Amino acid sequence: MAASHKNITTDEVRTAVENAYNKLRTTTGGKNADYIPYLASIDPNLFGICVCLLDGTIVSVGDADHIFGIESVSKVPTAILAMREYGALDILEKVGADATGLPFNSIMALLLEKDRPSSPLVNAGAIAACSLVEPVGNADEKWKAIVNNIAELTGREPQVIEELYKSESATDFNNRSIAWLLKDYGRIYDDPDLSLDLYTRQCSLGITAHDLAIMGATIANDGYNPVTNKQVFDADLAPKVTSMITTVGFYERTGDWLYKSGLPAKSGVGGGVLGVMPGMFGIAAFSPPLDDAGNSVKAQLALREIMAELGLNIFAASRLCVCGCQGASAR
Ligand code: GLU
Repeated sequence: MAASHKNITTDEVRTAVENAYNKLRTTTGGKNADYIPYLASIDPNLFGICVCLLDGTIVSVGDADHIFGIESVSKVPTAILAMREYGALDILEKVGADATGLPFNSIMALLLEKDRPSSPLVNAGAIAACSLVEPVGNADEKWKAIVNNIAELTGREPQVIEELYKSESATDFNNRSIAWLLKDYGRIYDDPDLSLDLYTRQCSLGITAHDLAIMGATIANDGYNPVTNKQVFDADLAPKVTSMITTVGFYERTGDWLYKSGLPAKSGVGGGVLGVMPGMFGIAAFSPPLDDAGNSVKAQLALREIMAELGLNIFAASRLCVCGCQGASAR
């Protein structure tokens, strides 16, 4: 099993999670996504936070077990699946691992790149990743592989929220353009409509903050799910996945987010955010109202509060050392 959390106690995490929740519970700001009609109807007051430590301990508050639309966070598990099937290098060549600096559904990003769709964590790359999932040409089997992979990463098999799937399928004109532009560039590896439908369906899966925290912990733990005690993917893939989350997890706001939080994290327009603190924990927060880039306002604040209270930052030496010296803070 990979490294466990050496410098952080469950009590410290519980206190930080509860403090963030109590501080932010009544915070308002942002607006539910409304370009997908179903999302506009979700209660904006829902709010939950969950942390999964690498010994499998779960710390959660509020609506951490509420099922919501996974949306863009689904790009992370399907990137992992494509890497499991093809290897990290092949995914770099076929899809890419670069930041776009542009909104999640940008057609311009693809036009400018004129080649690879940049990263499996933006819409173009996520549709390409769905096209790659084996067995190519078989939508039913591909779908089973996508769902099974999420079940392995979280320990629970997610179900499609049918109303969300219908709502999203009826309004996905922008994504249809992306799928067919990928075809024009030779960067989609299965039928474009089939690939887009798989992408839309995976975005419509119901997930909880609890599930996402376990998924984050599995990535933070070199592919070993600390709750189910199973090695889900090759340890070598974990830093590659985390690097993608780091570079593009908040789309055009990724740099600002990292600067403020010090946490690699991936957001979705359903209001969920999945964070990965390598060697320490997975963390997730859920609150539907979004900022203008499509990132949950309250989930961002919650994760920032918790990271700050724990004194953690992936770019700072203090507390990251696992030899027990407490890093630079001990000198
Ligand atoms: N299904 C959404 C879309 O493709 C996901 C976007 C997101 O969560 O950022 O528009």
